[in-house]
Amino acid sequence: MYSHSRLSCYEQCPQKYKLQYIDKVETEVEENIEAFLGSRVHETLEKLYRDLGYQKVDTLDELLEFFHDEWKKNWDDSIVIVKEEYGPENYLKMGEKFINDYYNKYKPFDQGRMISLEERILIKLDDSGDYKLQGFIDRVMESEEGYYEVHDYKTNSRLPLPEYIENDRQLALYAIGIKERYPDVKDVKLIWHFLAFGKEIDSTRTDEELEELKKNTIQLIDKIEGDEKFVASPSLLCDWCEFKPICRQWSHLYMIKEKPENEYLGDPGVKLVNRYAELTQKKKQVTLDLYAEIEKLEEALINFAEKEGVDVVFGSKNKVKIKETEQNKFPSKHSKERERLIQLLKDHGKWDEVIQLDTAALNKIIQEKQWNSELLDVLKDYVKHEQSKRLYLSKIKNDS
Ligand code: SF4
Repeated sequence: MYSHSRLSCYEQCPQKYKLQYIDKVETEVEENIEAFLGSRVHETLEKLYRDLGYQKVDTLDELLEFFHDEWKKNWDDSIVIVKEEYGPENYLKMGEKFINDYYNKYKPFDQGRMISLEERILIKLDDSGDYKLQGFIDRVMESEEGYYEVHDYKTNSRLPLPEYIENDRQLALYAIGIKERYPDVKDVKLIWHFLAFGKEIDSTRTDEELEELKKNTIQLIDKIEGDEKFVASPSLLCDWCEFKPICRQWSHLYMIKEKPENEYLGDPGVKLVNRYAELTQKKKQVTLDLYAEIEKLEEALINFAEKEGVDVVFGSKNKVKIKETEQNKFPSKHSKERERLIQLLKDHGKWDEVIQLDTAALNKIIQEKQWNSELLDVLKDYVKHEQSKRLYLSKIKNDS
């Protein structure tokens, strides 16, 4: 069944999605330290509220002891620490601080009535129930009769921009689930606890916004189900991807990484890339030099023709004609003046005579299946599909 994180995985990288959810590839790489820290902090706050449900108010020391025990019990030396300048002890201290700050901020934890803790919720996106998601909500509270709050703990080391909060899909989806689950709901507030900053940020969604979200989420699910290629989308997040060693974007790097330098340089792939980079660089330099020389020659020819009062200059087998031309310049793209010009042409009914088919835009629409399938099917008759391969040369970052 779909979930917010499953959808996010596809948005981050369709190939990762395929490896994780379709091929279900098992990897030897353990979780990363950020996820490990997040889980331990979540467990500790879960204990706090679970005990509160039984009228037991944990002391801060009890919670920190629980956190330490869970850390030790679950620790595994294969946990990946991408930021090599920090060790596990730094992350442990971060977790202690998150819990400490949270505890002191909310003690005695009497902000509303707890409705549920770490609860699985089903989110129906359409009336027929064909599109469903599931989610696990950290905590649901009722601040006053019918006013529900969805609480979510975040251990991110960056505070998000307001747009993130306004557009966040995860908690908004939970709001849909809560509205279905509890019929007495008057309103649902979404609350994020950014533990690294001791900050609570909240937001709400109107019914219209939730309807729009359902529509967009259904479209995304359709896109995933219609995807046949699951093209890789490499980014900085690859460093946290457990499939990196087997991913076609990176596996060659893993093949050569462990080799000693002499073997490494003898690798046929390394040799090819090194030579390709060398020649591409040379080609760039030669092209630049040629352009500079041609420019100088053009200037000299114009000066010569002017000085001698001629329009054509003759060489042994070629001649160069110097012709004065005039051309009209129009306002640049996206400028206000350009918009006014377009409007003027439209007002005079002349726009159709000067517009052209934007094939790049059409290509994007077809690739991203932005139009309905009937129209896309009709377009197929006019599109010839050709496969080609292009090479992109770039520098490797030091930490790759
Ligand atoms: S390493 Fe990067 S490109 Fe490869 S599957 Fe993972 S996220 Fe995608």
